[in-house]
Amino acid sequence: MVDRDATLTELIALLGPKAVLSDPAELAGYERGTRYGSGRAACVVRPRDALEVQQIVRWAHKHGLRLIAQGANTGLVAAASPDDSGDQVIVSFERMRHEIDLDVHNRTVRVGAGVLLQSLNDRLRPHGLCFPIDLGANPSIGGMIAANTGGARLMKYGDVRRNLLGLEVVLANEDATHLELMSGLRKDNSGVDLKQLFVGTSGAFGFITAAVLEVHPLPRQRATALLVPRTAASAMELLRTLEMSCGELLTSFEAMSRAAMECVFRFRPQVRNPFDADVPELAILVELTSAASTSMGVDLERILESALAALADGDEAPLADALLGRAEESWQLRHGISDCLRDAGTVIAFDISVRRSAILALRDFMIQELRQRWPHLQVCDFGHLGDGGLHLNLVWPHDCGVPPDAATIQHVREFVYDALVRQFRGSFSAEHGVGPYNVAMYERYTAANRLAIAGDLQRLFNPDARLGTVRFGSS
Ligand SMILES: Cc1cc2nc3c(=O)[nH]c(=O)nc-3n(C[C@H](O)[C@H](O)[C@H](O)COP(=O)(O)OP(=O)(O)OC[C@H]3O[C@@H](n4cnc5c(N)ncnc54)[C@H](O)[C@@H]3O)c2cc1C
Repeated sequence: MVDRDATLTELIALLGPKAVLSDPAELAGYERGTRYGSGRAACVVRPRDALEVQQIVRWAHKHGLRLIAQGANTGLVAAASPDDSGDQVIVSFERMRHEIDLDVHNRTVRVGAGVLLQSLNDRLRPHGLCFPIDLGANPSIGGMIAANTGGARLMKYGDVRRNLLGLEVVLANEDATHLELMSGLRKDNSGVDLKQLFVGTSGAFGFITAAVLEVHPLPRQRATALLVPRTAASAMELLRTLEMSCGELLTSFEAMSRAAMECVFRFRPQVRNPFDADVPELAILVELTSAASTSMGVDLERILESALAALADGDEAPLADALLGRAEESWQLRHGISDCLRDAGTVIAFDISVRRSAILALRDFMIQELRQRWPHLQVCDFGHLGDGGLHLNLVWPHDCGVPPDAATIQHVREFVYDALVRQFRGSFSAEHGVGPYNVAMYERYTAANRLAIAGDLQRLFNPDARLGTVRFGSS
């Protein structure tokens, strides 16, 4: 039987009173995830460095307590939220938000795990640099590594994994082993690349305390257009041709369905409808970026204009219309979708991916099959078409009179995931990772031999599943 008061007193003696929160009112903000996941925590502890993280791990071992790492709490699979037991201790990295150490010549930055993406970019901007993972939230670097965040510019810059050159980790074993993997080298084949095991594993292998990230020249030019493909099926032809004509300048290729855009126009009247006629069945937000200035002879607007002119030439051309410029308004539309769908109804959200060559067939299949099975459901899909990612978000409208029950939602989820994984060979989690929200899918679709190896690795770093909310082995 754990004496809660005595363990907390011991923790406060180790780390000081500012490090520990235990008042229920103070805990509330840490106990609930942005969209999914809520429970009760034993307390929140806020270390200032890796040494304090080690002290926390040893203290938790001594008292048999379970730990959860938490960054900015913007994750979308409930992986940073406690369960209802009231036994788990949340380790928040919010006091590790200050270390940002730039190496200009290596074009890398050493950052503390709690540093927020926006603060990092604010510090990099005066040096003409950025960390280019782009999303509609402001996560911490530790959380981004644990979730392997993607975002809307993945086509050009890749995910977090592709930009990670070093990692410092504290394991959840009894010794609280401190692993220093901070080489910052772009080329290093001198052994097993251990740092990759902590990327995208939902904080269940160890605490990330610091990282070395590759940073990139800040784009000096940007050219944006909203494209209307002749038919939805022409979208991939647009992508293929733009990749061939614009090469590495192509940074985003984001699709938005009519139903998704109409939701934004309805619930965010400040976002103007840019289309003269009806809202098209599908629109694509295309963005080119370059770090070269126009004085170097590279003019992105001109390049985009001539690439689009070629795509609109002829009766069978894949491009029906293009609205150039208006970058801010186009991104407002794209980033507004997720929240506006929630104003329209109950959202059943899917963060999925397939091979790009299969994405339109998957979309057609889902629209047709879902409409037949659940006529109330509206498919309001949008997402990162350029990297095979799709947020296949389904809205059960508030005004349809019949609210969905839990069994129906479960049935819809199983139908979509089964077809996606078994028929289209896609991924049930394209970029949000694995957490209590979708761990059942992980267990359902992961081969037994893969489960066994993942479980062995987790036990090696985190022997008695003391850390995290996911078990990667078979349950
Ligand atoms: C509006 C909105 C838009 C989003 N758009 C995208 C998008 O386009 N692409 C995308 O990929 N994601 C997106 N996300 C999801 C989310 O922002 C990312 O998953 C993010 O990387 C989570 O970081 P965080 O700091 O908030 O982590 P948290 O939510 O606090 O935690 C996430 C996971 O990381 C673990 N963790 C946190 N810190 C550490 C640490 N120091 N050591 C070990 N483990 C740790 C947690 O235990 C948990 O498993 C979006 C979220 C929102 C709310």
